Amino acid sequence: MTKQNQVAVVGAGVLGLIQALLLQRTGHQVTLFERENERLDHHCSSVAAGMIAPFCELNEAEPEAASWGAQALAVWQSILPTLKAPVHSSFEGTLVIAHHQDRTGLQHLAERVKHLGFEHSMRVLSRQTLRDLEPELEGRFAEGLFFSPEGEVDPRMLLPALVQTLRSEGAILRFQTPVEEIQDGKLRVHAEWQEFEWVLDCRGLAARDIFPHIRGVRGEVMLLRAPDVQLRRPIRMVHPRYPLYIVPRPDHHFFIGATAVESESMRKTTVKSALEMLSAAYSLHPAFAEAEIIETRVHLRPTLPEHLPAIRQQGHTLHLNGLTRHGYLLAPYLAKTATHFVQHQTWPEDAHRLHRPQASA
Ligand SMILES: Cc1cc2nc3c(=O)[nH]c(=O)nc-3n(C[C@H](O)[C@H](O)[C@H](O)COP(=O)(O)OP(=O)(O)OC[C@H]3O[C@@H](n4cnc5c(N)ncnc54)[C@H](O)[C@@H]3O)c2cc1C
Repeated sequence: MTKQNQVAVVGAGVLGLIQALLLQRTGHQVTLFERENERLDHHCSSVAAGMIAPFCELNEAEPEAASWGAQALAVWQSILPTLKAPVHSSFEGTLVIAHHQDRTGLQHLAERVKHLGFEHSMRVLSRQTLRDLEPELEGRFAEGLFFSPEGEVDPRMLLPALVQTLRSEGAILRFQTPVEEIQDGKLRVHAEWQEFEWVLDCRGLAARDIFPHIRGVRGEVMLLRAPDVQLRRPIRMVHPRYPLYIVPRPDHHFFIGATAVESESMRKTTVKSALEMLSAAYSLHPAFAEAEIIETRVHLRPTLPEHLPAIRQQGHTLHLNGLTRHGYLLAPYLAKTATHFVQHQTWPEDAHRLHRPQASA
């Protein structure tokens, strides 16, 4: 028999954790199932740089990623101060710059942002205004674009803080508990079926039974420590192949990422990718030459053919997936939309491209 008000969330990536929190906070008793252990260093979510940037990647992204992302940004800003552990985050906007040979990429980005009607989020910078924002870039870049509101959050602090908050707010957390099968409003664990009012499936790439066309897109990131570099905000460099960014973190740490390679290989970072990321950093600021390489990480982004996330409904189960490059940007929007459906059984007006019963299946 279905248990009133009891919901299950499967998967403790950024999507499952934020989904669990929103449901728990709207009066549901949440049980979260995760097949791996509580360290949460195994999944795509643990590798991400944590950029929450709706607009500055619009030359590669769908316009929905920007409008949904702008809503998600507001959700992050309301949730982060309520978590039970401190989480590094900043919302100082993103600077986009290009070397002279890549400056047409900068122009294309500005044109696309205007064409899609997001110009209110963009400021064209001169040499002077660029220097005011990031004094250490003085003399190396003649122009840039500034996008606001945009920000970043540190996934390594955020994921444990979400777990701690869920636990303290009464959610039941079942780590090292693989879900063997999911059906309409029920799931099977240790060969036994359990029924819930709703099941929210947030298994990422493991959900190929529901999303057979989902694929992994390989991404590589590097963590550097560079005591001589002072940058205030994330900087995105226009690059002919990847959207490369440098994200400052406390204690002079900098995340550099991320490659996007059509491959499901989980082999370690290649020399080619490392050279491209490191030379981008060095060309941004020569003091990166003396940086320590703290680590390199690789993971696969769950990506649907439309390059947008999707929610599929099967009775009392919602399958959420396909966050691709935008997991931190869009997870709160997906989770908010699914929470609305659980409460009202209707989809919000602007979510019609999100709720895709047949697409990608
Ligand atoms: C290099 C790189 C950099 C990135 N940078 C950014 C960025 O700056 N900004 C941004 O917005 N996004 C970024 N992303 C994308 C982002 O990381 C992903 O979109 C996001 O992590 C996907 O989250 P998820 O919760 O859907 O999946 P996952 O993180 O893969 O989580 C799925 C969870 O489900 C669990 N699971 C699977 N099957 C079962 C089962 N049967 N039972 C129980 N549990 C199960 C898994 O163990 C896992 O914990 C980046 C990705 C990469 C690879």
